Amino acid sequence: APPSDPTSGLPPYDDANIFARILRGEIPSKRVHEDEHAVAFHDINPQAPVHVLVIPRGRYVSLADFSASASEAEIAGFWRAVGRVARELGLEGRGYRALTNMGPEGGQEVPHFHVHLFGGTRLGRMVP
Ligand code: ADP
Repeated sequence: APPSDPTSGLPPYDDANIFARILRGEIPSKRVHEDEHAVAFHDINPQAPVHVLVIPRGRYVSLADFSASASEAEIAGFWRAVGRVARELGLEGRGYRALTNMGPEGGQEVPHFHVHLFGGTRLGRMVP
C-alpha cells in the first residue's frame, strides 16, 4: 500500500509512537500547555536552555500530513498554541527558533508532527 504521506517517506500514523503515548498520558511529560488542539512539553534531551515541543492532538505524522489533512480549526489552534507557548515561556523578548523536521531525510525521528521551540540563549545560524 502507498504511504499515507508520500512526500515525507513516513509510514502511516502509528498509535504506538512516543508522542501518542505522551498524549494518552501513558508516558510522563513536563507539560507547559494544553488545550483543545495542542499539547506542549519539555524536550527530554534539551538542545537549548529552553527546548519545548508543541504537538497537535490529532494523528498527523508530519508537517506535510498536517498541512494537507488537518482542519482549519486544528491548524489555527495549533499555530496559536505555538505562539502562546513561546509567549508564556518568556521567549518573545529575546528571540527564539521554531523548527520542524520533516521526514527521515529531514531529520524527523518521532512520527507525530511536532514543532521544536528553542530559546533562552543566542541562537546561531542554522546549518544547513
Ligand atoms: P530529532 O531527535 O532529530 O530532533 P525529531 O524532530 O523527531 O527528531 O524530534 C524528536 C524529539 O523528541 C527529540 O528532540 C527528542 O529529544 C524528543 N523526545 C523523545 N522522546 C521524548 C520524551 N519521552 N519526552 C520528551 N521529549 C522526547
